[in-house]
Amino acid sequence: MVYKSLLRGLLPATCLLCGGTARAALDLCADCAAQLPTLDNACPRCAMPLADAHGAPCGPCLQRAPRFGACIAALRYEHPVRELVSRFKFQGDLACGRMLAGLLARRLAALPPARRTGVVLVPVPLHPARLRERGFNQSERIARVLAAELGLALANTLVRRVQRTADQKQLGAAARSRNLQGAFHATGCAGRRIALVDDVITTGATAEAVTAELFAAGAAQVEVWCLARAL
Ligand SMILES: [Zn+2]
Ligand SMILES: [Zn+2]
Repeated sequence: MVYKSLLRGLLPATCLLCGGTARAALDLCADCAAQLPTLDNACPRCAMPLADAHGAPCGPCLQRAPRFGACIAALRYEHPVRELVSRFKFQGDLACGRMLAGLLARRLAALPPARRTGVVLVPVPLHPARLRERGFNQSERIARVLAAELGLALANTLVRRVQRTADQKQLGAAARSRNLQGAFHATGCAGRRIALVDDVITTGATAEAVTAELFAAGAAQVEVWCLARAL
């Protein structure tokens, strides 16, 4: 492991998408980096892409805002981000996770420092049985990169997944919320400003369910920071 990281420092890095020579500290070549679907104009509450940057919430958020105060996503969940996330989560390609988390860290570093100062990173937890299957929690890996890059505290014991829920993929928004009732339990969040770290936000049902628990445990503020926003 140490040997490999030493080599990483000496040899030019390889682009995770095309296999070409990567730029230092990103594991992507300049062309592939430039073609990533970044999410520049987005709703500040739910990170849905907007046509222009006016800073106001999107229509659905004006009607019913999510429980979390803001959502920041670095990328749109489309090609090739979808494939990179899949390699990270389902094939254990941790380099893809580090690269994507590095892009999120850059995005967050560009925000006013007051937005980050004193924020505690809380990864969305996996149920212990799912964690054993996968071998790692993808959200925790992302949070580790953010903690290192931004100098923030990581707290991965504040919230636990106490129920293993059915796969959300086939469910609509209302069914997702029902499916997640009682799935999470949080403690010891009194007065904390929390950034809930996730890989991909789809309907936001999981983030909403965890946010409700964090507030119930006394959190002062909850934002969601994630790699990508599904449309
Ligand atoms: Zn490339
Ligand atoms: Zn919105």
